[in-house]
Amino acid sequence: MLDQFQKNKPLSELSTFGIGGPARYFIEVHSIEELQNVISYCYKTNLSYHLVGKGSNSLFDDRGYDGLVILNKIDFCAIERCEVSVGAGFSFSLLGVKTARAGLKGLEFASGIPATVGGAIFMNAGANGQETCEHLTEVTFVDEQGRLEILPRSHLSFSYRHSCFQEKKGAIAAAKFILAPDETSRKKQLEIIAYRTKTQPYGDKSCGCVFRNPEGQGAGALIDRCGLKGKAVGGAEVSSLHANFLINRAQAKATEVLELARLVKECVKEQTGVELEMELRIIPFKDDRFSC
Ligand SMILES: Cc1cc2nc3c(=O)[nH]c(=O)nc-3n(C[C@H](O)[C@H](O)[C@H](O)COP(=O)(O)OP(=O)(O)OC[C@H]3O[C@@H](n4cnc5c(N)ncnc54)[C@H](O)[C@@H]3O)c2cc1C
Repeated sequence: MLDQFQKNKPLSELSTFGIGGPARYFIEVHSIEELQNVISYCYKTNLSYHLVGKGSNSLFDDRGYDGLVILNKIDFCAIERCEVSVGAGFSFSLLGVKTARAGLKGLEFASGIPATVGGAIFMNAGANGQETCEHLTEVTFVDEQGRLEILPRSHLSFSYRHSCFQEKKGAIAAAKFILAPDETSRKKQLEIIAYRTKTQPYGDKSCGCVFRNPEGQGAGALIDRCGLKGKAVGGAEVSSLHANFLINRAQAKATEVLELARLVKECVKEQTGVELEMELRIIPFKDDRFSC
Protein backbone atom coordinates (compact mmCIF):
# COMPACT_ATOMS: atom_id res chain seq x y z
CA MET A 1 0.00 0.00 0.00
CA LEU A 2 2.95 2.34 0.72
CA ASP A 3 3.41 2.86 -3.03
CA GLN A 4 -0.13 4.34 -3.23
CA PHE A 5 0.79 7.13 -0.85
CA GLN A 6 1.85 10.51 -2.21
CA LYS A 7 4.93 11.89 -0.45
CA ASN A 8 5.56 15.38 0.97
CA LYS A 9 2.06 16.75 0.40
CA PRO A 10 1.94 20.42 1.53
CA LEU A 11 -0.60 20.61 4.35
CA SER A 12 -1.12 24.31 3.65
CA GLU A 13 -3.26 23.08 0.71
CA LEU A 14 -5.51 21.11 3.08
CA SER A 15 -6.29 23.79 5.65
CA THR A 16 -8.44 26.92 5.27
CA PHE A 17 -5.66 28.70 7.22
CA GLY A 18 -3.27 27.91 4.33
CA ILE A 19 -0.62 26.96 6.90
CA GLY A 20 1.45 23.79 7.38
CA GLY A 21 4.54 21.95 6.20
CA PRO A 22 4.55 18.66 4.27
CA ALA A 23 2.90 15.38 5.27
CA ARG A 24 5.32 12.45 5.03
CA TYR A 25 2.56 10.41 3.32
CA PHE A 26 -0.82 11.42 1.91
CA ILE A 27 -3.86 9.62 0.47
CA GLU A 28 -7.43 10.52 -0.52
CA VAL A 29 -10.16 8.00 0.26
CA HIS A 30 -13.36 7.91 -1.80
CA SER A 31 -15.21 4.97 -0.28
CA ILE A 32 -15.78 3.38 3.12
CA GLU A 33 -13.87 0.26 1.96
CA GLU A 34 -10.83 2.36 0.99
CA LEU A 35 -10.94 4.05 4.39
CA GLN A 36 -11.09 0.65 6.13
CA ASN A 37 -8.14 -0.68 4.12
CA VAL A 38 -5.97 2.35 4.84
CA ILE A 39 -6.72 2.35 8.58
CA SER A 40 -6.18 -1.40 8.82
CA TYR A 41 -2.81 -0.96 7.06
CA CYS A 42 -1.82 1.78 9.55
CA TYR A 43 -2.81 -0.49 12.45
CA LYS A 44 -0.74 -3.42 11.15
CA THR A 45 2.31 -1.30 10.37
CA ASN A 46 2.15 1.04 13.41
CA LEU A 47 1.91 4.05 11.12
CA SER A 48 0.48 7.24 12.73
CA TYR A 49 -2.32 8.80 10.71
CA HIS A 50 -4.44 11.91 10.79
CA LEU A 51 -7.89 12.43 9.24
CA VAL A 52 -8.64 15.67 7.40
CA GLY A 53 -11.99 16.96 6.19
CA LYS A 54 -11.88 20.55 4.91
CA GLY A 55 -9.16 21.52 7.38
CA SER A 56 -11.35 24.40 8.59
CA ASN A 57 -10.50 23.85 12.24
CA SER A 58 -6.95 22.50 11.91
CA LEU A 59 -3.68 24.30 12.45
CA PHE A 60 -0.91 22.13 11.03
CA ASP A 61 2.67 22.35 12.28
CA ASP A 62 5.20 24.32 10.20
CA ARG A 63 7.26 21.11 10.00
CA GLY A 64 4.25 19.20 8.63
CA TYR A 65 3.08 15.79 9.85
CA ASP A 66 5.35 12.80 10.37
CA GLY A 67 2.87 10.11 9.30
CA LEU A 68 -0.03 9.55 6.90
CA VAL A 69 -2.62 12.26 6.28
CA ILE A 70 -5.94 10.80 5.07
CA LEU A 71 -8.21 13.19 3.17
CA ASN A 72 -11.84 12.11 3.47
CA LYS A 73 -13.65 12.32 0.13
CA ILE A 74 -16.51 9.91 0.90
CA ASP A 75 -19.13 12.26 -0.41
CA PHE A 76 -22.43 10.55 -1.20
CA CYS A 77 -25.67 12.21 -0.08
CA ALA A 78 -29.19 10.74 -0.28
CA ILE A 79 -32.35 12.39 1.03
CA GLU A 80 -35.36 10.11 1.39
CA ARG A 81 -38.35 11.94 2.89
CA CYS A 82 -36.99 13.15 6.25
CA GLU A 83 -33.97 10.83 6.42
CA VAL A 84 -30.57 11.95 5.19
CA SER A 85 -27.72 9.44 4.61
CA VAL A 86 -24.45 11.16 3.96
CA GLY A 87 -20.75 10.35 3.55
CA ALA A 88 -18.42 11.95 6.11
CA GLY A 89 -16.52 13.73 3.33
CA PHE A 90 -19.65 15.50 2.02
CA SER A 91 -19.68 19.30 2.37
CA PHE A 92 -21.50 20.28 5.56
CA SER A 93 -22.40 23.67 4.08
CA LEU A 94 -23.93 22.05 1.01
CA LEU A 95 -25.86 19.67 3.27
CA GLY A 96 -27.39 22.70 4.99
CA VAL A 97 -28.43 24.15 1.62
CA LYS A 98 -29.75 20.85 0.17
CA THR A 99 -31.85 19.95 3.20
CA ALA A 100 -33.29 23.48 3.46
CA ARG A 101 -34.13 23.41 -0.26
CA ALA A 102 -35.88 20.08 0.32
CA GLY A 103 -38.05 21.83 2.95
CA LEU A 104 -36.40 20.11 5.92
CA LYS A 105 -35.42 21.91 9.09
CA GLY A 106 -32.58 21.22 11.52
CA LEU A 107 -29.38 21.79 9.51
CA GLU A 108 -29.93 25.33 8.20
CA PHE A 109 -27.08 26.53 10.44
CA ALA A 110 -24.62 24.35 8.48
CA SER A 111 -24.78 26.57 5.42
CA GLY A 112 -21.64 28.68 5.33
CA ILE A 113 -19.64 26.43 7.69
CA PRO A 114 -16.76 25.29 5.43
CA ALA A 115 -16.56 21.79 6.94
CA THR A 116 -17.14 18.17 6.02
CA VAL A 117 -19.92 16.23 7.74
CA GLY A 118 -17.25 14.12 9.51
CA GLY A 119 -15.41 17.19 10.80
CA ALA A 120 -18.71 18.75 11.94
CA ILE A 121 -19.65 15.60 13.90
CA PHE A 122 -16.13 15.33 15.38
CA MET A 123 -16.32 18.97 16.58
CA ASN A 124 -20.09 18.98 17.19
CA ALA A 125 -20.07 22.18 15.15
CA GLY A 126 -22.86 24.61 15.82
CA ALA A 127 -24.27 28.07 15.22
CA ASN A 128 -27.50 30.02 15.61
CA GLY A 129 -28.49 27.96 18.65
CA GLN A 130 -28.24 24.65 16.76
CA GLU A 131 -25.66 21.84 16.97
CA THR A 132 -24.67 18.99 14.63
CA CYS A 133 -25.60 16.27 17.14
CA GLU A 134 -29.24 17.38 17.52
CA HIS A 135 -30.74 15.56 14.53
CA LEU A 136 -28.03 12.92 14.13
CA THR A 137 -29.36 9.35 14.49
CA GLU A 138 -26.30 7.20 13.79
CA VAL A 139 -22.65 7.26 12.75
CA THR A 140 -20.84 4.68 10.64
CA PHE A 141 -17.40 4.46 12.23
CA VAL A 142 -14.20 2.71 11.16
CA ASP A 143 -12.42 1.61 14.33
CA GLU A 144 -8.66 1.62 14.88
CA GLN A 145 -8.29 -1.83 13.29
CA GLY A 146 -10.37 -0.91 10.24
CA ARG A 147 -13.58 -2.66 11.35
CA LEU A 148 -16.99 -1.07 10.71
CA GLU A 149 -19.25 -0.09 13.60
CA ILE A 150 -22.72 1.44 13.45
CA LEU A 151 -22.99 3.71 16.48
CA PRO A 152 -26.51 4.88 17.42
CA ARG A 153 -26.82 8.43 18.74
CA SER A 154 -27.71 7.06 22.20
CA HIS A 155 -24.18 5.55 22.44
CA LEU A 156 -22.45 8.84 21.60
CA SER A 157 -21.77 11.65 24.03
CA PHE A 158 -21.83 15.18 22.71
CA SER A 159 -21.46 18.53 24.41
CA TYR A 160 -20.51 22.05 23.36
CA ARG A 161 -17.91 21.64 20.52
CA HIS A 162 -17.12 18.16 21.85
CA SER A 163 -17.81 14.59 20.71
CA CYS A 164 -16.55 11.24 22.00
CA PHE A 165 -14.67 10.90 18.67
CA GLN A 166 -12.10 13.39 20.01
CA GLU A 167 -10.91 10.62 22.36
CA LYS A 168 -11.28 7.72 19.90
CA LYS A 169 -8.85 6.39 17.34
CA GLY A 170 -10.48 5.61 13.98
CA ALA A 171 -12.60 7.60 11.54
CA ILE A 172 -16.16 8.72 10.96
CA ALA A 173 -17.18 7.29 7.58
CA ALA A 174 -20.85 8.25 7.21
CA ALA A 175 -23.87 9.47 9.15
CA LYS A 176 -27.67 9.58 9.21
CA PHE A 177 -29.83 12.50 10.26
CA ILE A 178 -33.60 12.68 10.69
CA LEU A 179 -35.04 16.11 10.03
CA ALA A 180 -38.56 17.56 10.17
CA PRO A 181 -40.57 19.13 7.35
CA ASP A 182 -40.73 22.93 7.48
CA GLU A 183 -41.65 25.24 4.61
CA THR A 184 -39.70 28.14 6.11
CA SER A 185 -36.34 26.35 6.31
CA ARG A 186 -34.97 27.68 2.99
CA LYS A 187 -35.80 31.27 4.05
CA LYS A 188 -34.09 30.70 7.41
CA GLN A 189 -31.00 29.21 5.71
CA LEU A 190 -30.71 32.20 3.35
CA GLU A 191 -30.95 34.60 6.31
CA ILE A 192 -28.20 32.66 8.11
CA ILE A 193 -25.80 32.82 5.15
CA ALA A 194 -26.50 36.54 4.59
CA TYR A 195 -25.75 37.28 8.27
CA ARG A 196 -22.57 35.17 8.21
CA THR A 197 -21.08 36.92 5.20
CA LYS A 198 -21.72 40.31 6.84
CA THR A 199 -20.22 39.43 10.24
CA GLN A 200 -17.36 37.00 9.45
CA PRO A 201 -14.19 37.56 7.41
CA TYR A 202 -14.99 35.10 4.60
CA GLY A 203 -12.42 36.54 2.18
CA ASP A 204 -9.55 35.89 4.61
CA LYS A 205 -7.71 32.65 5.34
CA SER A 206 -8.79 31.50 8.79
CA CYS A 207 -10.05 28.54 10.80
CA GLY A 208 -13.13 30.33 12.14
CA CYS A 209 -13.36 30.94 15.87
CA VAL A 210 -10.10 30.12 17.63
CA PHE A 211 -11.50 30.16 21.20
CA ARG A 212 -14.54 28.46 22.71
CA ASN A 213 -17.22 30.78 24.06
CA PRO A 214 -17.00 30.87 27.88
CA GLU A 215 -20.31 30.11 29.65
CA GLY A 216 -22.80 32.89 28.83
CA GLN A 217 -20.29 35.09 26.98
CA GLY A 218 -18.91 35.52 23.47
CA ALA A 219 -15.13 35.06 23.20
CA GLY A 220 -15.14 37.53 20.27
CA ALA A 221 -16.78 40.26 22.37
CA LEU A 222 -14.25 39.74 25.20
CA ILE A 223 -11.29 39.98 22.79
CA ASP A 224 -12.82 43.06 21.16
CA ARG A 225 -13.31 44.69 24.60
CA CYS A 226 -9.56 44.28 25.21
CA GLY A 227 -8.86 46.34 22.07
CA LEU A 228 -7.14 43.47 20.28
CA LYS A 229 -8.72 43.76 16.81
CA GLY A 230 -5.90 44.22 14.30
CA LYS A 231 -3.22 42.99 16.73
CA ALA A 232 -0.59 41.03 14.75
CA VAL A 233 2.34 38.66 15.21
CA GLY A 234 4.25 38.25 11.95
CA GLY A 235 1.69 37.37 9.27
CA ALA A 236 -1.03 36.39 11.77
CA GLU A 237 -3.64 38.98 12.78
CA VAL A 238 -6.79 39.32 14.90
CA SER A 239 -9.58 40.01 12.38
CA SER A 240 -11.01 43.54 12.48
CA LEU A 241 -14.44 42.16 11.55
CA HIS A 242 -14.73 39.34 14.12
CA ALA A 243 -12.21 39.34 16.98
CA ASN A 244 -12.41 35.57 17.61
CA PHE A 245 -11.07 34.93 14.08
CA LEU A 246 -7.29 34.93 13.74
CA ILE A 247 -6.40 35.35 10.10
CA ASN A 248 -3.42 34.45 7.96
CA ARG A 249 -2.80 37.94 6.59
CA ALA A 250 0.59 37.31 4.95
CA GLN A 251 2.20 33.86 4.82
CA ALA A 252 1.75 33.37 8.56
CA LYS A 253 3.50 30.49 10.25
CA ALA A 254 1.79 28.17 12.72
CA THR A 255 4.18 29.45 15.40
CA GLU A 256 2.97 33.01 14.74
CA VAL A 257 -0.70 32.01 15.03
CA LEU A 258 0.07 30.23 18.31
CA GLU A 259 2.04 33.18 19.67
CA LEU A 260 -0.83 35.55 18.77
CA ALA A 261 -3.35 33.19 20.40
CA ARG A 262 -1.16 33.11 23.53
CA LEU A 263 -1.03 36.95 23.64
CA VAL A 264 -4.81 37.20 23.20
CA LYS A 265 -5.40 34.66 25.98
CA GLU A 266 -3.01 36.45 28.33
CA CYS A 267 -4.51 39.88 27.65
CA VAL A 268 -8.12 38.66 28.10
CA LYS A 269 -7.18 36.94 31.37
CA GLU A 270 -5.44 40.08 32.65
CA GLN A 271 -8.21 42.52 31.67
CA THR A 272 -11.36 40.45 32.28
CA GLY A 273 -10.30 37.55 34.50
CA VAL A 274 -11.71 35.07 31.94
CA GLU A 275 -9.55 32.08 30.92
CA LEU A 276 -10.13 31.40 27.21
CA GLU A 277 -9.85 27.84 25.90
CA MET A 278 -8.85 26.83 22.38
CA GLU A 279 -11.47 25.50 19.96
CA LEU A 280 -8.92 25.27 17.14
CA ARG A 281 -7.25 21.83 16.81
CA ILE A 282 -3.47 22.01 16.87
CA ILE A 283 -2.08 19.10 14.82
CA PRO A 284 1.43 18.26 16.04
CA PHE A 285 4.28 17.10 13.80
CA LYS A 286 4.44 13.85 15.76
CA ASP A 287 1.13 12.57 17.10
CA ASP A 288 2.27 10.92 20.34
CA ARG A 289 -1.31 10.55 21.58
CA PHE A 290 -2.34 8.36 18.70
CA SER A 291 0.86 6.75 17.41
CA CYS A 292 0.80 3.01 17.99
C1 LIG B 1 -15.09 30.84 7.85
C2 LIG B 1 -15.31 29.79 8.92
C3 LIG B 1 -16.52 29.76 9.62
C4 LIG B 1 -16.72 28.79 10.61
N1 LIG B 1 -17.91 28.80 11.28
C5 LIG B 1 -18.14 27.87 12.24
C6 LIG B 1 -19.38 27.84 12.96
O1 LIG B 1 -20.27 28.65 12.73
N2 LIG B 1 -19.55 26.89 13.90
C7 LIG B 1 -18.59 25.96 14.18
O2 LIG B 1 -18.81 25.11 15.06
N3 LIG B 1 -17.41 25.96 13.52
C8 LIG B 1 -17.16 26.88 12.55
N4 LIG B 1 -15.96 26.88 11.89
C9 LIG B 1 -14.91 25.90 12.25
C10 LIG B 1 -14.95 24.58 11.45
O3 LIG B 1 -15.62 24.74 10.21
C11 LIG B 1 -15.60 23.45 12.25
O4 LIG B 1 -14.89 23.18 13.44
C12 LIG B 1 -15.76 22.15 11.46
O5 LIG B 1 -16.46 21.23 12.25
C13 LIG B 1 -14.43 21.52 11.02
O6 LIG B 1 -14.73 20.56 10.01
P1 LIG B 1 -13.60 20.08 8.98
O7 LIG B 1 -14.19 19.04 8.11
O8 LIG B 1 -13.00 21.23 8.29
O9 LIG B 1 -12.58 19.44 10.00
P2 LIG B 1 -10.98 19.45 9.96
O10 LIG B 1 -10.46 20.80 10.30
O11 LIG B 1 -10.52 18.81 8.71
O12 LIG B 1 -10.70 18.47 11.20
C14 LIG B 1 -11.02 18.91 12.52
C15 LIG B 1 -10.80 17.71 13.45
O13 LIG B 1 -11.74 16.70 13.10
C16 LIG B 1 -11.06 15.48 12.79
N5 LIG B 1 -11.80 14.83 11.70
C17 LIG B 1 -12.19 15.39 10.53
N6 LIG B 1 -12.87 14.49 9.80
C18 LIG B 1 -12.88 13.33 10.52
C19 LIG B 1 -13.44 12.04 10.29
N7 LIG B 1 -14.10 11.74 9.18
N8 LIG B 1 -13.27 11.08 11.25
C20 LIG B 1 -12.58 11.37 12.40
N9 LIG B 1 -12.04 12.58 12.67
C21 LIG B 1 -12.20 13.55 11.73
C22 LIG B 1 -9.66 15.89 12.38
O14 LIG B 1 -8.73 14.83 12.55
C23 LIG B 1 -9.40 17.09 13.29
O15 LIG B 1 -8.94 16.67 14.55
C24 LIG B 1 -15.72 27.82 10.88
C25 LIG B 1 -14.52 27.85 10.15
C26 LIG B 1 -14.32 28.81 9.17
C27 LIG B 1 -13.02 28.81 8.39
